[in-house]
Amino acid sequence: MQLEPIKSAQQKIAIVPTMGALHKGHVSLIAEAKQQADLVVCSIFVNPTQFTDPKDLEKYPRPLAHDIKMLEEAGCDVVFMPSVKEMYPGPENWHIDLGNVEFLLEGEFRKGHYQGVTQIVKKLFDAVNPDIAFFGQKDFQQVLMIKKMVEYFNLPVKIVSCPIIREPDGLAMSSRNIHLSPQDRQNALVISRSLQYVKSHFEEQSIACLLEHAISMLQAVPGVELDYFTIVNGDTLLPESNKETKNLVALVAAKVGETRLIDNMLLH
Ligand code: AMP
Repeated sequence: MQLEPIKSAQQKIAIVPTMGALHKGHVSLIAEAKQQADLVVCSIFVNPTQFTDPKDLEKYPRPLAHDIKMLEEAGCDVVFMPSVKEMYPGPENWHIDLGNVEFLLEGEFRKGHYQGVTQIVKKLFDAVNPDIAFFGQKDFQQVLMIKKMVEYFNLPVKIVSCPIIREPDGLAMSSRNIHLSPQDRQNALVISRSLQYVKSHFEEQSIACLLEHAISMLQAVPGVELDYFTIVNGDTLLPESNKETKNLVALVAAKVGETRLIDNMLLH
């Protein structure tokens, strides 16, 4: 489909970048995009340059027929599913300055991850030329990195962050949840519970106490291996001990069985 005529007719184009294996979290981004734009493009591309573990890339779920059905039901206008060859026709060197945040939290555990993420999002933006792009707060640090990339290239694309969609029991929806065994699925609940604990006791406890309690909750569940649980300034991602700081967010990453999950909660 040619998007150029739509663009020249002054219609607003939105993009929702995904790696497929769609769930209600992705659908919520499409719904929000439909509210704010005239035409919604959803991309499905499992981007090899953002994976640090080749096994993770290999086993990433790719249920294409299910995804197409979800997109039809969500009222998405265009699906963009490029091949790896199309997006990466030859060897290329991508390195942009994303600032210090790139190396914190996820950046520390997944070296080079945000170079890969920004590389593919720039390519998707170049292909679709959107006015507005929708991302999930679920990948909190990713939104910061995309905004940094947009600033770096001075792109005329508005970046919108949408709330985290959860299962009824609190687990944040994720394409990776499919890999959880029934026992892992049960164990994984401690992730959202630890965040919820921090949020609901925020007024009465110090940050140090909140962290201590949340970390001990996570460490008490066998089969859950904690990478980090932290309370940070949502702009710098640096740890905060002052509760008066605006924009505080609690972020967690843990391996549950063989599956690494991330989640977060805004505290204000
Ligand atoms: P992914 O396919 O995992 O790369 O995710 C594509 C987009 O969907 C990203 O912007 C994610 O942050 C967003 N997303 C993933 N899970 C959720 C969720 N549970 N709620 C809201 N957005 C989500």
